[in-house]
Amino acid sequence: MARRKKIYEGKAKTLYEGPEPGTIVQYFKDDATAFNAEKKDVIEGKGVLNNLLSEYFMLGLTNIGVPNHFLKRLNMREQLVRSCEIIPLEVIVRNYAAGSMSKRLGIEEGTQLPRPIIEYCYKDDKLGDPLVTEEHIAAFGWASQQDMDDILSLALRVNDFLAGVMYGVGIKLIDFKIEIGRVFEGDYQRLIVADEISPDSCRLWDIETGRHLDKDVFRRDLGSLTDAYTEVAKRLGVMPKSSAPQGKPTLIN
Ligand code: 5GP
Repeated sequence: MARRKKIYEGKAKTLYEGPEPGTIVQYFKDDATAFNAEKKDVIEGKGVLNNLLSEYFMLGLTNIGVPNHFLKRLNMREQLVRSCEIIPLEVIVRNYAAGSMSKRLGIEEGTQLPRPIIEYCYKDDKLGDPLVTEEHIAAFGWASQQDMDDILSLALRVNDFLAGVMYGVGIKLIDFKIEIGRVFEGDYQRLIVADEISPDSCRLWDIETGRHLDKDVFRRDLGSLTDAYTEVAKRLGVMPKSSAPQGKPTLIN
């Protein structure tokens, strides 16, 4: 069996060359990191849960016409995605104050915002993904004005979709982060939602109890991360058939 080519290894995922040109295999690891990788652990089963949850959200987006990179799930830890050029920005949408916004602006966590607020961070681990303004983005050529209009529209559509899905299962969508990729179709380029959408990149609070069902459980030592993600997956009806997490990657070519 030929060993496939690794393209990139990140903190939570590894990317391999896909079977067709323009495709990538996205492998979800069990590794959890926080505070720019100062805190690290391996959480058994996290990769399986995030693979299934990201598939669920991306398919939902496809169903309502929001373009994204997801093609198909290959197994419990891997999905086939469209290759794209990632715009070096983390696009954060906030519905309630929490995390870095609460710290920065002194707003109590959980305070409802008057409207969704979008923030941009420059993707650079060495710099700790600093907050940037549209002025920086334009001046340094990370995205054009047209890109920024498209990114805003994508981010708000993802927010409406995710907030609605979560509300339906008793969960408040506090905030989330997405990444956007560029794909080229002939002479045209199009922006699509890429990377992943999972409890690693969202803040999800139980509406009744306020229980955290996201990566803050790991960041803030609030209990079992797998239990929290499993709760989200159960409520959405997205549970692995076998409850035992699958450990080994499957080589596909
Ligand atoms: P904050 O800026 O408050 O730390 O994060 C805002 C939201 O974006 C949270 O839902 C958080 O999980 C997500 N987020 C911010 N930076 C990252 C990142 O580097 N990786 C992931 N997975 N999520 C992030």
